[in-house]
Amino acid sequence: MPKYLFSCDCGATFTQTLKIGEHKTHVCPSCSGMAKQVMPKFGFNFALGKNSPGNSGVTKHDYPTADQAVGQSADARWQEIQARDEVKEEVRKNTGRQALTRKHGPDNKYIEYGGASAEVIQHRKKVVRSVETAVKSGKL
Ligand SMILES: [Zn+2]
Repeated sequence: MPKYLFSCDCGATFTQTLKIGEHKTHVCPSCSGMAKQVMPKFGFNFALGKNSPGNSGVTKHDYPTADQAVGQSADARWQEIQARDEVKEEVRKNTGRQALTRKHGPDNKYIEYGGASAEVIQHRKKVVRSVETAVKSGKL
């Protein structure tokens, strides 16, 4: 069964293995709201089923072989990264903060992003400075 990507207004993004079909929304494991399916910006979504373009113009997508079937998990991984980037962009827009916090849900079922607080940003700068100091002094 194909993996579908969803992102929720609460900042959570997750994948769900579902039967082939239309899955425009799915219950968010984080807030129980309705998360929307994320379509990849580019590339090919194997989960699209009947909505897939008949010919993507890329032979490997239109005529999958056993080798490509193995490659699908890599594609799914890549799509997940893209979906997360889209969610991050959205959270940055909504919170007005470039730095984000990241929280894993139970069993790594989902990742939730939020705008980082001033304290978090301060802490990160401190960590970066201490690493830089350790590198300069030859401790790392
Ligand atoms: Zn949610």
